[in-house]
Amino acid sequence: MCIEQTMESPLVDYIIKKEGEETLYELTKYLMGESDKELPQIKGVCWREKDRVIINEDREFVDINTLPFPYSTEKTREFLITYRTFSTNYSLKTVEPVVMELSRGCPYSCKFCYNRFFSKNIARIKSIDKIEKELTILKDKYNIKEVGFYDDSLCGGNRKRIEELCELLQKLGLKWQSAIRANYIDDKMAERLEKSNCHHVFIGLESNNDRILKKFNKGYTSEIVYRAVRTLRKYKIYVSYSVIIGYPGETREDLNNLLDFVDEVRELHPNSGIAVQPFLPLPGTDLYQESIDLGFTPPSKLEDWADFAHDEFKAPWVSYYKDLSAIYLVTYVGFRYKWYLKNSKIAFIYYLFHKISLWRWEKRYFSFYFEGIMFKLYKKFGKPFIYIQRQLENLYL
Ligand code: SF4
Repeated sequence: MCIEQTMESPLVDYIIKKEGEETLYELTKYLMGESDKELPQIKGVCWREKDRVIINEDREFVDINTLPFPYSTEKTREFLITYRTFSTNYSLKTVEPVVMELSRGCPYSCKFCYNRFFSKNIARIKSIDKIEKELTILKDKYNIKEVGFYDDSLCGGNRKRIEELCELLQKLGLKWQSAIRANYIDDKMAERLEKSNCHHVFIGLESNNDRILKKFNKGYTSEIVYRAVRTLRKYKIYVSYSVIIGYPGETREDLNNLLDFVDEVRELHPNSGIAVQPFLPLPGTDLYQESIDLGFTPPSKLEDWADFAHDEFKAPWVSYYKDLSAIYLVTYVGFRYKWYLKNSKIAFIYYLFHKISLWRWEKRYFSFYFEGIMFKLYKKFGKPFIYIQRQLENLYL
């Protein structure tokens, strides 16, 4: 995606398109002078020849069943700790959940998702034997008790493999979390998830409006959306739902209806979280061109993509774009992760903003959003302090 623009950056010498495992290996060998291939022969690489950008042909998809397990080296634990040290999202006290993939790609075609472009609607799924071997390494060699699966669509959307996975995790006694599509959720599946120690699922409901679900090409109707919520509330699995606001063609009425739906979900399933996410036109997606036609100007250089985030994006097709960012942050602080209140060392500050956010939500009052300005300041100046704090914590682990 955006290859020419990326290559314009003086910071970039090479790009590896799409999946990197084999291309990175071949490029590294070439750069070390150990390759019998010349650059034009290395599939998947983009490079510069004098002032010309050369884009080599795409590499075929890798066979994920033949890839080595990345967590099987002597340095695995060290790598995981280092990763945590540089991430502001995780506790340093544990390396769990260890994240791994079970599949790549997705057979569905949601119009806001990069997947159709990237994976061409092809889902590749690891064999259950390979999955068992890898999970056993994590459990027996590293004493890992919890895993997170970061598939595009859990087990490539293959229901049989999801069921086999549940049996396996029940047998191994590992806790786990993952995203799963709403159409897989019925009582039979929810029971399996619960029994297999699944403690957290993420579900992109996106909307309760059939017209909008169709626009997104979500592949299910509002009936499935409500079935998922009504089913999951009966089980001991924490659920993080998400919905999308501010997409091309949204009206103020659509937005208001969706916010009411969010309240409906909170009432139907009180012990759950729900993220209200502003739409982002991602390159390669079906809605990208529509967004450009409606006035969106993509960032003109590589560095500008850094501000391309849910809380920064100014959708040109709606007059209330400032509200979108406020709604995103209000719902994040108000009820997306309310358990932070119990755990956070800065609970008293969080508590204050949490209360303000809930008040705003109830009144649907998103103007004069001073908390957003404070958040921007925090993003700009706060991270170095967090980093120092984490380095100190690391010293005493
Ligand atoms: S949003 Fe999820 S289900 Fe839809 S295409 Fe993307 S990965 Fe597949």
